[in-house]
Amino acid sequence: MLGIRRIATAAAGVFFAASAFAQAWPTKPVTLVVPFAAGGPTDVVARTLGVSMTKTLGQTVVIENKLGAGGTVAAAYVARSAPDGYTFFIHHNGMATSTALYRKLAYNPLTDFEFVSQAVEVPMTMLARKDFPANNYAEFAAYLKANQSKINLANAGLGAVSQLCGLMFETALGVKFTAVPFQGTAPAMNALLGGQVDILCDQTTQTIPQIKAGNVKFYGVTTKQRIKALPDAPTLDEQGLKGFEVVVWHGIYAPKGTPKAAIDRMNQAVRAALKDPDVVRKMTELGAEIVGDDRLSPESLQAWLKSEIDKWGPIIRSTGTFAD
Ligand code: ASP
Repeated sequence: MLGIRRIATAAAGVFFAASAFAQAWPTKPVTLVVPFAAGGPTDVVARTLGVSMTKTLGQTVVIENKLGAGGTVAAAYVARSAPDGYTFFIHHNGMATSTALYRKLAYNPLTDFEFVSQAVEVPMTMLARKDFPANNYAEFAAYLKANQSKINLANAGLGAVSQLCGLMFETALGVKFTAVPFQGTAPAMNALLGGQVDILCDQTTQTIPQIKAGNVKFYGVTTKQRIKALPDAPTLDEQGLKGFEVVVWHGIYAPKGTPKAAIDRMNQAVRAALKDPDVVRKMTELGAEIVGDDRLSPESLQAWLKSEIDKWGPIIRSTGTFAD
């Protein structure tokens, strides 16, 4: 009897602590870890959402850029972080593609995280330095095939979508370039603008201003359909790369064991941000599309990630690209 009463008292204590946490959270700034350099595409999405989520949560969402190894350094860091409700993580397709690209990963994307929500989808654009000797896609493809050994392709490391897009492009063209990895596509873009690298496939969230300013050569978008933000730009698919498609999706995660109350409140804050007119305007300008409501639950992110691992794994393995 005494034992049962003790257990009941202990259970009530846990329940009380959990509901006190739920009511109070967040009592201090919340960190959102970004796996690439400041100023790049993932960072832009994170900061845009973060400003709005700060209003909803009543605490600052602090962006922490944790760089390295195509986003896997940040993922491993978050997987090992305390599940106290104050560390979250935003990542894209790399959460899925890294499982095929790395023989050894220090985390399991499906079991070491809690799932919060998806957010936006972003098209990519195929670019070259401004003085690249090709003025349209046909010339671009012909030049690349004839000069593949001389071409430097910038990317943000194995696991970045710039790397995924470059790999898919190489496979479609039947060529191999020299990859030059950076810690994000912000520095990769700087290298392209400075003419130190030749080509870069990167998200519209960073590239639209450079395309519009005429600072780069631009050969097409990576979606199946043309996009509203660049309505005159042809797709790579329509220019001859039949079936070519790389779309960048974003998910928000937390370390496994993060209290459900914090996950639920973060989920609400993401949903509110995606309806915030300032966020909608900025995302639209930058070519990003807010995903439908059916993709905003934790369960849908978990199922989406699993399906992306299943989708990209065999494609990537068939190219023989991996790191030990
Ligand atoms: N999202 C970019 C990529 O994966 C990197 C970045 O955001 O800087 O290539």
